[in-house]
Amino acid sequence: MYSLPQHKHTPNLHHKVCKNSSPFHPLRVCCSTTSTPKSNVKPLVIEPRLVPVVPRVITTIDEHRPINKDTDLQSTWSHRAWVTVGCTTLLISLGESIKGAMDSNMWVEPIIASWVGYILADLGSGVYHWAIDNYGDGSTPVVGAQIEAFQGHHRWPWTITRREFANNLHALARAVTFTVLPIAIFCHDPIVQGFVGVCSGCIMFSQQFHAWAHGTKSRLPPLVVALQETGVLVSRSQHAAHHRPPYNNNYCIVSGVWNDFLDKHKVFEAMEMVLYFKTGVRPRSWTEPAPEWIEEIETSSQIQTQ
Ligand SMILES: [Zn+2]
Ligand SMILES: [Zn+2]
Repeated sequence: MYSLPQHKHTPNLHHKVCKNSSPFHPLRVCCSTTSTPKSNVKPLVIEPRLVPVVPRVITTIDEHRPINKDTDLQSTWSHRAWVTVGCTTLLISLGESIKGAMDSNMWVEPIIASWVGYILADLGSGVYHWAIDNYGDGSTPVVGAQIEAFQGHHRWPWTITRREFANNLHALARAVTFTVLPIAIFCHDPIVQGFVGVCSGCIMFSQQFHAWAHGTKSRLPPLVVALQETGVLVSRSQHAAHHRPPYNNNYCIVSGVWNDFLDKHKVFEAMEMVLYFKTGVRPRSWTEPAPEWIEEIETSSQIQTQ
């Protein structure tokens, strides 16, 4: 019988110290020796001494932290080219769906297929996000860069709002191009094209929806805020929960419609257990968050340097 950890993140020493409401620790030291007659034993006592507990602040200078001027956040012509090709692929797919629907005068089925594509895109974004948050590392074939990027996102979430559009979307645009373009060109079924076009479009733009989920309400376009508040796009509050301990929920980043269901029924935890029983690999969320997972708070001096 396997024993699984029930508490994913035990509080560390620092947390315990911070919870102590008293700013002072009483210190009591006793000392005795066997050569002294017991009746004369007078323990050496250092009575309560006021030792101030100063919260420990660890300041690190991480040269890998992306900043505004960092080229990591800027779009290159290669990024823009991939996003252009990805968008073209989506337009071909959706155009084929509309053309097929017009030719056959069949609208209901392609619309339903498109809606199913939108719903399943949210589920797909959650499964993919959960997988790269919990398994593999920078050396993992194909998705290693994505895994590193998401680890960096957990540490510096605010940088996604400063990442340029094509920089944020190019990896998914490339994936959409390779998987969807053959279907877009060779398939002429309006139902299939409706499903594929909308599903892959939502997947490709999920990183933009994700960036908006990190935005400030007053700075977001009113239409985006309205879509977030009506649940069409993942809400800011729902995604904020993903960036708080225990860091193991709210993985879906298209509409977030699946998040409640998946978290309430512990679907990802069940999948983690199955993988653990089958392979012995533990997900990152079972262990205390590594420094890479803990959000660094942006200081005013850091803002000023950007
Ligand atoms: Zn995440
Ligand atoms: Zn995020």
